[in-house]
Amino acid sequence: MAIYTLPELPYDYAALEPVINPQIIELHHDKHHAAYVKGANDTLEQLAEARDKEAWSSINGLEKNLAFHLSGHILHSIYWHNMTAPKEGGGGEPLAADGVGELADAITESFGSFAKFKTQLSKAAATTQGSGWGVLAYEPVSGRLIVEQVYDHQGNVGQGSVPILVFDAWEHAFYLQYKNQKVDFIDAMWGVVNWQDVAKRHAEAKDRTPLITP
Ligand code: MN
Repeated sequence: MAIYTLPELPYDYAALEPVINPQIIELHHDKHHAAYVKGANDTLEQLAEARDKEAWSSINGLEKNLAFHLSGHILHSIYWHNMTAPKEGGGGEPLAADGVGELADAITESFGSFAKFKTQLSKAAATTQGSGWGVLAYEPVSGRLIVEQVYDHQGNVGQGSVPILVFDAWEHAFYLQYKNQKVDFIDAMWGVVNWQDVAKRHAEAKDRTPLITP
């Protein structure tokens, strides 16, 4: 029984050219993201079986697998919507004139300026060791935005923080087009950011009840 399902892309494979070529998007969504969805579903089944058999020695490995696959599914599901073609309004900065002033203000408040935020997120994404993500997250206890450097899909994450803009820095996200030039890929990514989507996620995150009081 599948609990998680692969979401459809909100655009066609070629929509993000020239920043990301169609071959990368097709493989990344249809193969990599699909594998995390399957992995999360399979792991839930394996955990149920382990419980039934009281096979507690397998719990540690299965819980790690669940965190990895489930977080991979969630981050990729956000990632596709965080991007849109430049001709559809992707890229640039969030501006009040475009209806995303609250997000723009929150970025300035939390990081000092858009430029400082952009540099921090770029560096967080570009300096991942091995596989990981640069993430802009809403941190509900402080009410601030923070940048996180996520190891694999699930490490280095503050509990309760809500990812609202995610940069995939795994090699599968860029290698076919950018080879080893991860920094060039991260720089180009800013040209397809869907600020409307980021602002919507920010507003929704702020509306949630905090896990604890400050
Ligand atoms: Mn990926």
